[in-house]
Amino acid sequence: MILRDDCRIMDDLDEIASLRDEFRLNEGEIYLDGNSLGPVGEASRRRVTEVIDVEWARGLVRSWNSAGWMAEPTRLGDKLAPLIGARPGEVLVADTLTFLLAKLVGGALELKKDRHVVLTDVANFHSDLYIVEAMAARAGRPVTVKVINRNALDDALDDDVALVMLTHVDFRTGEMLDMAGITKKAHAAGALMLWDFAHSTGAVPLDVTGCDVDFAAGCGYKYLNGGPGAPAFLYVRERWQGVLENPLPGWLGHVRPFDFELRYEPAEGMQAFVTSSPSMIALASLDGALDLFERVTMDQIRAKSLALTDLFIALVEDRLPGVFELVTPREHATRASQVALRHAEGYGVIQALSERGVIGDFRSPDICRFGFTPLYVRFVDVFDAVERLVEVMDSRMYRDARFAVRNPVT
Ligand SMILES: *Cc1c(COP(=O)(O)O)cnc(C)c1O
Repeated sequence: MILRDDCRIMDDLDEIASLRDEFRLNEGEIYLDGNSLGPVGEASRRRVTEVIDVEWARGLVRSWNSAGWMAEPTRLGDKLAPLIGARPGEVLVADTLTFLLAKLVGGALELKKDRHVVLTDVANFHSDLYIVEAMAARAGRPVTVKVINRNALDDALDDDVALVMLTHVDFRTGEMLDMAGITKKAHAAGALMLWDFAHSTGAVPLDVTGCDVDFAAGCGYKYLNGGPGAPAFLYVRERWQGVLENPLPGWLGHVRPFDFELRYEPAEGMQAFVTSSPSMIALASLDGALDLFERVTMDQIRAKSLALTDLFIALVEDRLPGVFELVTPREHATRASQVALRHAEGYGVIQALSERGVIGDFRSPDICRFGFTPLYVRFVDVFDAVERLVEVMDSRMYRDARFAVRNPVT
């Protein structure tokens, strides 16, 4: 039996507890949806205000030079690089995730012109599947996207596979894949490996260098707290720079953008993956959000994340035995920073819980998702969230008729 006081002691012992003060969170509300949209931090507000009031208002067009705006995509890439185990000069912040996947898939297919297959996972995020299909269809040669069950990867890997594209943490179940092992298998078959880190970056330690990953991309607005629609990032391993082409070239990826040349000539390094003007206000918000990660290690985040999810699972199983099916792996090695619970009336559960001040989300057809962001979620929050979940289930409030109609965003 876990008591609220036990949780309070865990908070007292938590060495990163003070980071919560950097966020603006609603009083009395428990936010367990930072895996979908991270909350706003004070540093983001400060940096956005600085860009608007100083760099834009006073500097005006001069700020492209004087405030270093042109270099922001690569500067923020270097700032983010340690979170994924990349080296300086291997990460760029730009666009949003689906666009970056298009760039990486399109470029990768040109590197393996003698191969005709892309392997991906049927449980992948739909946007990833749409964009990989679209890029394959435009490859200039027949390319088939094989949408397989990821457990059948070994059988599907042969010498016609150009690229394996997987999402490292399953957005529904929170299962984390074996990045090192799968990347090694893809390489053994002569294929390139592209990882989507949407639900990994800022949530779990990542080591693209040690795992020999070719390409990766991830979101800025989930665990990184960069703001709604924040710019995303892409990783291109050093060995592919100058080799991998950007299939969506634009003037700011040109080596001499202000020479207005008729022929495209890519810039060196990650700059070649810039297409158009950096979105400075959005980048400023992400810039501020990344400051927090300089005050904490990913190992500290991981340790607290596992403790939070362990606690949530234990409390749900203790207080609501048999009510939900645990979809997220119990094993630490394959669990990321969210817990997914299956319930036939999951949508109503999430809505009712939201009215009780606990924010999670719902993924069709029957998954209740709860994200645990160690930067601001406390152990007492986990305790209180489960107490409120018990109230929702015991009262059958989740069956209320007003939850029968779904909002556009679930
Ligand atoms: C959140 C998410 C996206 C979102 O992509 P955007 O283009 O940034 O809207 C894509 N893929 C996965 C796996 C995600 O979880």
